[in-house]
Amino acid sequence: MTSTQLTTPSTGKYTQPTGLFINNEWVQGVDGKTFETINPSTEDVICSVAEATEKDVDIAVAAARKAFDGPWRKVTPEDRGKYLTNLANLIEKNIDLLAAVECLDNGKALGMAKGDVGAAAGCLRYYGGWADKIEGKVIDTNPDTFSYTRQEPIGVCGQIIPWNFPMLMWAWKIGPAVATGNTVVLKTAEQTPLSALVAASLIKEAGFPPGVINIISGFGKVAGAAISSHMDVDKVAFTGSTVVGRQVMKAAAGSNLKKVTLELGGKSPNIVFNDADIENAISWVNFGIFFNHGQCCCAGSRVYVQSGIYDKFVERFKARAIANKVGDPFAADTFQGPQVSQLQYDRIMGYIAEGKKAGAKIETGGERHGDKGYFIQPTIFSNVTEDMKIMQEEIFGPVCSIAKFETEEEIIKTGNNTTYGLASAIHTANLNTAIRVSNALRAGTVWVNQYNMLHHQIPFGGFKESGIGRELGEAALANYTQTKSVSIRLGDALFG
Ligand code: ADP
Repeated sequence: MTSTQLTTPSTGKYTQPTGLFINNEWVQGVDGKTFETINPSTEDVICSVAEATEKDVDIAVAAARKAFDGPWRKVTPEDRGKYLTNLANLIEKNIDLLAAVECLDNGKALGMAKGDVGAAAGCLRYYGGWADKIEGKVIDTNPDTFSYTRQEPIGVCGQIIPWNFPMLMWAWKIGPAVATGNTVVLKTAEQTPLSALVAASLIKEAGFPPGVINIISGFGKVAGAAISSHMDVDKVAFTGSTVVGRQVMKAAAGSNLKKVTLELGGKSPNIVFNDADIENAISWVNFGIFFNHGQCCCAGSRVYVQSGIYDKFVERFKARAIANKVGDPFAADTFQGPQVSQLQYDRIMGYIAEGKKAGAKIETGGERHGDKGYFIQPTIFSNVTEDMKIMQEEIFGPVCSIAKFETEEEIIKTGNNTTYGLASAIHTANLNTAIRVSNALRAGTVWVNQYNMLHHQIPFGGFKESGIGRELGEAALANYTQTKSVSIRLGDALFG
């Protein structure tokens, strides 16, 4: 069986693919293994899906290799773009279903899930537009030589994605890889396989030849490890934890030295100066940490507020956080659903206990919400010092740490006091402060008077231990192309 009948509260009955999508066909795993996916709102099993093992990864890689060496090479850049645009259109057409499935499997609020699916379509369409604009250069060295470069695809790309933005990560990975002429074996996260499988059912209809995009479900230690150590995968792109990022890089180094790009964790500073518009700053700080239940690699989890407004800010921010509606992700007014899994729930509650023990003050939250599902109250810690774990380690949940600062010089130093460097933000009415501090922060993204405003046209990625390479924008094309230099002799032989 490679599909099952399911129901979502918002769209009703639908057919959920459950197989592995290889060569434009649904297949079961060679060993017939399956695993369950859980509804994090109810803790009930939604369904079982095929689990890819090493053998299935081999089959998917062979399909991707065959497509790369054969039919896909003959497809014009214009047609590659067309297929991506078709896929974007089909995803938009199915936005209600895809969002509902994401809501069911991941627990994110339905409205947010719709935003993600819309952004996924936008990303695919954007890279569709790039497909026929990948250009080399002519390099003039002397009259006897004609030299030029070509930006060629890397080959078979293994892509490993996390569970926090299943559809969006799918699009961020597939878009630039396919636009530049690569083929793909993408593994979804074991916590959230379902929406990617529904989206996979649109690939053939979009026009992609067999083997260009292969989507498999499976576990990190089995299928993920098989991808990153595979001798016939030319590149691996990974988004997830820094711990696993290191393992992926080691596996690449220990196998065929495949190219590696990594988008990893963060502990991003969100800095509010005395002169900021305080109500706006509170809204963005709230959104910065509690959006997607804090399950964002770029979450603004370290909040620093200047001393002149600190007390007022903490009081009002607390009221704002308490007003965030936590509950059923299908309810129209829900802002925060459950955490994705029991494991994540336990990790986050462990950090909350750790913060309390270390002497930080709970301003609000700190407890489970309700008695079923992996819900956690929006939690704010104040009086947090730099040496506390909750200020240094990525919690990946609805938990933020606030501390006070006095001067610009001090906050630049404190803001950069982390091994991570994914994102950051500054709230100020002063343009000079905004530019000076943006330049000084060691992070791949700086938001000014806003937060979490990612866009497919704007590069995103990490300084320091937050990653290697950039996703989105023109910058992502570099992750999926390699430069070939061709030099042609026009004149007589050099030593003739
Ligand atoms: P989290 O801890 O939030 O679940 P992970 O970094 O463990 O995040 O997971 C992100 C992705 O990496 C998932 O698709 C997961 O299956 C995969 N993964 C986990 N371990 C490995 C591994 N050893 N090698 C390759 N991929 C892995």
